[in-house]
Amino acid sequence: MTRTVYVNGEYLPETEAKVSIFDRGFLFADAVYEVTSVLDGKLIDFEGHAVRLKRSLDELEMAEPCTKDELLEIHRKLVELNGIEEGLVYLQVSRGSDGDRDFVFPPADTKPSLVLFTQNKPGLANSPAAQKGAKIISIEDIRWGRRDIKTVQLLYPSMGKMMAKKAGCDDAWMIEDGYVTEGTSNNAYFVKDGKIVTRPLSNDILHGITRKAVLRMAAEAQMEVEERLFTIDEAKAADEAFTTSASAFVMPVVEIDGVALGDGTPGPIAKRLREIYLDESRKAAV
Ligand code: PLP
Repeated sequence: MTRTVYVNGEYLPETEAKVSIFDRGFLFADAVYEVTSVLDGKLIDFEGHAVRLKRSLDELEMAEPCTKDELLEIHRKLVELNGIEEGLVYLQVSRGSDGDRDFVFPPADTKPSLVLFTQNKPGLANSPAAQKGAKIISIEDIRWGRRDIKTVQLLYPSMGKMMAKKAGCDDAWMIEDGYVTEGTSNNAYFVKDGKIVTRPLSNDILHGITRKAVLRMAAEAQMEVEERLFTIDEAKAADEAFTTSASAFVMPVVEIDGVALGDGTPGPIAKRLREIYLDESRKAAV
C-alpha cells in the first residue's frame, strides 16, 4: 500500500513527495531527526521527542520548521491517514537549500525542509526479538564528538549493524577510550547484583528519550541505578544487560562478544522494565 507522507506543508503519496537534490540533508547530512513510536494508534512520549528536536535544532543554529502543536498535529494526521496502530513516525528537519552546494550555511531565512513518514510495524510491542534477547558485539566508536545532537550522520552506526550481522549477531555496542558509549541506535546498560549501570549523559552519547523514562521508572520501582563509565568486560561479567530506544523500548541483551550473560536468556530486571515501560507509556500516550 502506498503511504501518505508529509513534506513541507503537504500530505502526498510517497511516490510524489520530493526534496531538492541541493538539500543540505542530502549533501552534508545537515539534518536532525526523531523517531516516535505508535502504540494503540497513539504517540509514545511525543513531548520528550519534541523537546529533544528543539535542542538539536538550537545546537546547530537551525530554524524550527513549525510549532510543537503543529508538529503534533502532523504526527497525528499521518498516523490516522496511514491507519497505524503499532509502528513509528520518522521526522527529519534539514537546513534546506538556497539552490546550490556550498559548505557555508545558506542565509538564516532559508526555509528548513520538514519531512515525516510512518512505518507500520504490527507486533512492535510483543516482538519475538525481545523475547529472545539480543546478541551484541563490541566495536570501536569512531563517530564525531557531538553524539548528543540527533543528526542523520548514521553511516557508522549503519556499518556497525552490518558488522554485527556478519558476526551472526543483532547489534553492536561502541567503545571509546576503553569505555562503552552506547549501542548503534540505543543506550546501553548492564545489571550486576541488582544494580543497573549506565553511562552518564554528556556529548558522547545521545540523550535517549527512552533512557530518561526508563531510569525514572526504575527509581520509582525502587531499583538501584548508577550512572558511570563502564567497560565491556564489566558488561560481559554482568548478570544481565539491556538497551533502550524509542523503537525497541527495553531490549534484553543475552550475549556480548560470544559470552552468554547469566543463563543466556533475557534477565528479570530487563523483562520487568520492559513491562513497566510499555504499560506506563501506553497510559501516557497522546
Ligand atoms: N543512542 C543512539 C546512538 C540512538 O541512535 C538512539 C536512537 O535512535 C538512542 C541512543 C536511543 O534514543 P531514544 O530512546 O530517544 O530512541
